[in-house]
Amino acid sequence: MAVIRQRLRVMGIVQGVGFRPFVARLAGDLALTGSVVNTSAAVVIEIEGPSQALTDFCHRLESELPRAATIEHVEVETLPVLGGDRFDIAASQTTAQSGVGIPADLAICVDCCREMDDPADRRYRYPFINCTACGPRYSIVDGLPYDRPATTMRHFPLCPDCTREYQDLADRRYHAQPIACPVCGPQLEFRPGNTTAETALRQAIDALRMGQIGAIRGIGGFHLACDARNPQAVEQLRRRKARGDQPFAILVKDLATAREFVDLDEQSAALLNSAAAPIVLLPKRDGDWLAPGNGYLGVMLPYSPLHRLLAAEIPALVMTSANRHGEPIETTHPEALEGLADFFLLHNRDIVAPCDDSVVRLYQGKLLAIRRGRGYAPLTLRLPVEAPCSLAVGAELKAAFAIGDGQRILISPHLGDMENVATLESFEKTLGHLSRLYRLQPTRVIHDAHPGYLSTQWARRSSLETIAVQHHRAHVASVMAEYGIAPDHTVAAAVFDGTGYGDDGAIWGGEFFAGALTQLDRRHHLPYVSLPGGDASARRPALSAIAHLRAVGIDWRATPAGASLTEEEARIFDRQMERNLNCHPTSSVGRLFDAAASLLGIRHRIAYEAQAAIELEAIAARWFQDEAYAADPGHLDQLWRELIEDEGPLEAKARRFHGAIARWTCDRLQALASQTRTIILSGGVFQNILLLRLVSEPLTKQGLKLFAPRLLPPNDGGLALGQMYLAAVQRP
Ligand code: ZN
Ligand code: ZN
Ligand code: FE
Repeated sequence: MAVIRQRLRVMGIVQGVGFRPFVARLAGDLALTGSVVNTSAAVVIEIEGPSQALTDFCHRLESELPRAATIEHVEVETLPVLGGDRFDIAASQTTAQSGVGIPADLAICVDCCREMDDPADRRYRYPFINCTACGPRYSIVDGLPYDRPATTMRHFPLCPDCTREYQDLADRRYHAQPIACPVCGPQLEFRPGNTTAETALRQAIDALRMGQIGAIRGIGGFHLACDARNPQAVEQLRRRKARGDQPFAILVKDLATAREFVDLDEQSAALLNSAAAPIVLLPKRDGDWLAPGNGYLGVMLPYSPLHRLLAAEIPALVMTSANRHGEPIETTHPEALEGLADFFLLHNRDIVAPCDDSVVRLYQGKLLAIRRGRGYAPLTLRLPVEAPCSLAVGAELKAAFAIGDGQRILISPHLGDMENVATLESFEKTLGHLSRLYRLQPTRVIHDAHPGYLSTQWARRSSLETIAVQHHRAHVASVMAEYGIAPDHTVAAAVFDGTGYGDDGAIWGGEFFAGALTQLDRRHHLPYVSLPGGDASARRPALSAIAHLRAVGIDWRATPAGASLTEEEARIFDRQMERNLNCHPTSSVGRLFDAAASLLGIRHRIAYEAQAAIELEAIAARWFQDEAYAADPGHLDQLWRELIEDEGPLEAKARRFHGAIARWTCDRLQALASQTRTIILSGGVFQNILLLRLVSEPLTKQGLKLFAPRLLPPNDGGLALGQMYLAAVQRP
C-alpha cells in the first residue's frame, strides 16, 4: 500500500489535556512515524505510513479524544515522504499567532482517585496528585505554548521518579505539566501554628469538626468552608459574610451524600461527575439553613484531591468563594481574609488566574449555565461573522468580558459585579493575562449604552475606539451568536431582565424585538411604571409594588407591601413618587416579579440579587397544576386587582402570576412570529426555569424554533458575546 506523509494542524483545546501523549500512543498503535509539537498557534502533527493507517489515525483522533480536549479545526497538508523509524514529541515552538486554547481546570480523574486511595502508591493521600487527564490548567498557566515552564509548577523541580514518569511515553503522566508528588510537589500548610504538611490536613479536619470556619486555598482561589451539617457553623459563616440569606453551595463526598440534600437524576449525576465538576443547582430536599426560601440547592463533588481528602471525613461542606462583599475571589493573601476565617489551610502552588466555581442548572435534562468559572473558563466560540480585533466589556452585574479577532471569540470567566475598584482591577488583570496569552491587541472596545456603568467609563478612558450597544439587543445577539444564527436571519425575541439602559433613556427590562440582527426593532414592552431610581428599588421589592399600584390607581397602604414600611418610610416614598423625584419610567420584568413577591407577602427587602423572584419561583413550583390569571401584564391594573383579591393558597397565587406572564409572552411572540419561525428568549429573568418552561412549551408545540441561552448565562454574564456580535454587524 502507498506510503504517504501528512501534516495536520490541529486547533482547539489541545494543549494541557494529554493531547500530545495521546497522539504519540495512537501513532505507536498504528505503527506510524513522524512527530507532534505544540506551537502557540496549533498542535502540529506530522505523520507517515500506509494511507489506510493514516485514515484510521484521523478517525481515532476524533473518536478517542481525551475527555477534556476539543478539536475546533484541522488543516491537512500532504508532504513528501521522509522515511523514519520513530514517532517523537518535539520541543515546543513559539510562533506569532495563537489558535490554541488554554484548557480549563479539570476535576480529578478516576485513575488518580484510585492511586491516592492506595496505601502502596507513592502518591497515597497526596493532595496535589494529577495526570494528563486531570488537574489545574487555566488557573496556573501564564504563557503559551502550554508547558511546565509556562505554569506556576516551574517552581517545583521534578524528582527522579516524576522525571521518569514525565519522560515515559507509556506512562499516564507522560508530559503531564503539573505533575507532582509528595517528594517534589506542592505542600499544605496550616495556620495558625505553621505546622508541617503531614499534620495540616488533620488539623483542618479537626477544626471543621469543631464547627470552625476555614479559609481553604483551592484551584481558583480561597473558599470559606465549614461543616454543612452544622447549622450553627453555617449561621456563623453567614454572619461573617454579612450576606443575609444568601444561598450557600455545598461540596459533598459522593452522590449518596448529595441525595440527602437534593433530588438527583441521571443527567444531573453526569454533570456533577463531569470534568468541569460545576456547582449544579438541584431541587432541594433538605438543607433550609443552607439556602433559605430557595427551591434549589447548589451541590458539587470534590474536584481537587485536597477537597476529596476533606470530604472523606466531613461528607458535606459549605464552600463559598472567599471574598469581601461583592469583591472578586481572593487567590493569594490569607491576610485579606482575617476576621472571616478561624483557620487557614494553605498551599504553595501559585494561582495565576482567579476562578470562581461554575454554577449551572439543568433544563430539560441539559446544561444551562448561570455562572461560568472554573472548569468552563476560558471559553472559545466562533462568531457567524468576522470582527476586527475587539474587546467587549459587558455591563455591570455578573461581569465577564469577550475578546477576539476574526471569528474566534474568547470569553473570560465570571469576574464578579463591576461595582467596585477591586472587581475593576481583577477585570484589568484578567484582560492583561488573556490578551497576552492569546496575543490579542484590540483596537476597539464595545460597551453598554449605560453612561453610568464602571465598564462604560473604563471603555471611555481607554485609548481605543468605543462603540456603545443597547443592552437588550446585546442579550438577543448573545443567543444568536451561541447558536450561530446569521445576522440577516429574522427573529422574534423576548428579553426580560432587571435593568438595562433603553434607547429613550428609560430603564428597560421587558422588551420584545423583531427583525434581523442588523435591524432589531423594539416592537412591544411591559407598560412603563415610574420607579424610584438608583439601588433603592432593586433592593426593596416593596417599592416596586407600591410604584406599580400607584401607577394604576390602586390603594397600596392595605397591602403587605404597604404594611412592610414604617409610617415615616411610607410618607417619604409617597412624597417622592407623588412629585416624581428621582423616579424613572421602567419596563423591567425583574421589578414586576419583585412587585408580585412583595404584594404576596413573600419578600419586601432583599439580601442578594433577584432573591424575591427566586423565592416566588420556588413557591410557584410547589403548585401542582398550570393556572393563570385572566388579565395580562399589558393591563397591569386588572392583573394587580386579580392578584390582590385572590383568596387562594400562596402557591396557587404565585403560579397564576407566572402563568399570566408566560401567556402574555407567548401571545406577543406569536404575533411577532408572522415573518419568522425563530424565537429568541434571553435576559436574567429566564434563569427562572418555571417561566422558561411555561413560555417554551406552547410555542414549541406551535412549531416555532426556540433558542434560549445554554452555554452562556441568560443573565449579564453572557452579554459581552452579544456586544461583540452586535458591534460586528452594526453599520457605523
Ligand atoms: Zn488524573
Ligand atoms: Zn516528584
Ligand atoms: Fe441584562
